Amino acid sequence: MSNTSYNPYEIAQQQFDSVASKLDLDAATCELLRQPMREYHFTIPVKMDDGSTKIFKGFRVQHNDARGPAKGGIRFHPMETVDTIRALSLWMTWKCSVVDIPLGGAKGGVICDPRNLTEREQERLCRGYVRQLAKNVGPNSDVPAPDVMTNAKHMLWMLDEYETIHGSRYPGFITGKPVGMGGSLGRTEATGFGVIYVLNEALKNLNIPIENTTASFQGFGNVSQYAVRLYQQLGGKVVAISCWNETDKKAYTFRKLDGMDINALVSITDSYGTIDKEKAMGLGYEVLPGDAWIEQDVDILIPAAMENQITIENVNKISKQVKVITEAANGPTTPDADKVIADRNIFLIPDFLANAGGVTCSYFEQVQSNQNYYWEKDEVLEKLNTKMTSAFKSVYELSQSKGLRMREAAYVIAINRVAQAVKSRGWI
Ligand code: NAD
Repeated sequence: MSNTSYNPYEIAQQQFDSVASKLDLDAATCELLRQPMREYHFTIPVKMDDGSTKIFKGFRVQHNDARGPAKGGIRFHPMETVDTIRALSLWMTWKCSVVDIPLGGAKGGVICDPRNLTEREQERLCRGYVRQLAKNVGPNSDVPAPDVMTNAKHMLWMLDEYETIHGSRYPGFITGKPVGMGGSLGRTEATGFGVIYVLNEALKNLNIPIENTTASFQGFGNVSQYAVRLYQQLGGKVVAISCWNETDKKAYTFRKLDGMDINALVSITDSYGTIDKEKAMGLGYEVLPGDAWIEQDVDILIPAAMENQITIENVNKISKQVKVITEAANGPTTPDADKVIADRNIFLIPDFLANAGGVTCSYFEQVQSNQNYYWEKDEVLEKLNTKMTSAFKSVYELSQSKGLRMREAAYVIAINRVAQAVKSRGWI
């Protein structure tokens, strides 16, 4: 899944090392925290509908569980790599820590393309994934969730397999379940809404009224669709959105300078976040090259697709008008591009803070599942807003008082909390 010239795991470790070197951490703590504590690599034989058997490669990586059970999504992607999963597991630890929820970090993935698998094949793959891991995950040890190209249906198959193996009901084993089957109201919206809660807070601090702003998004999947929705509700204008087109094997940017009708756009988008090119043109959209999203004269850029998307090759295409970048995706900015953004004084809200709404709501789902008592949607979203806003404020205050960039300040808070947990447990 990663761009070949950037290894997300090396980037995640570099980010950790650069902050850890400024903190008063001993060598053992640094060594423990810069790599995952446990990894599972396995094969998953799946009976295909045509009677053949295909072998898929799966991973689960648990980075650190000192603050609580590990937590992290499972991705299905044809270009998945274990190093991407490792990086994401580290970022999950920092994410749970920066929003101060009592969970650690993990991530999982399967090298596969669900777009080329039937429903039944996907179900067998989900069940096979859980069979390989059933002893090493669970509501008190490691709680999976959906991520790129996995959804509520996959989570329910995984839960059913886990409960079949363990002979009881464990609704807290997995999050992102369908509402009515242990899922939390608000979970679908949570990551995208969380991105906008922190963006809104940033704009208030920068004295920029959100209703005067324009934005360009990369990606139009779960995160982006709800971020666009809330951003527009608050008065912002979205002028460009890019997404991947699997048939053409390239990305396109869809632009409408007078703003977009989100409902109309969603109605011509498939479940993988691909906007129908012909129908978009019919609705008056300009269809531009994939990278055009980054070149727009807007106030806000929101990368909400994949890692390694803002690189040294395209960072200088960012318009002078851009004031804020909110990293909705995990790891969208490479370290060299990050330096250019810092030098240009663009206010950047780092990924593990900006997109923490998903895991925060997953935590709420787990709490509700373990109690078997479910909250109203308004209650969930209000609690989410409180958590995200408070995390943003802590990071912002530290960045202001110590003269740190937001990414550094977020790392300082997150790493310190995990290091403290490791120490308090007597591991080091
Ligand atoms: P998704 O699969 O629903 O959507 C991904 C979108 O990105 C699709 O529209 C796809 O077409 C687009 N895309 C892929 N490659 C692209 C490219 N090269 N150029 C332009 N668009 C491209 O995924 P999602 O759940 O929305 O997740 C998006 C990002 O947010 C990922 O980095 C994910 O790890 C992160 N994230 C997701 C959640 C969550 O709750 N879903 C939580 C935290 C972080």
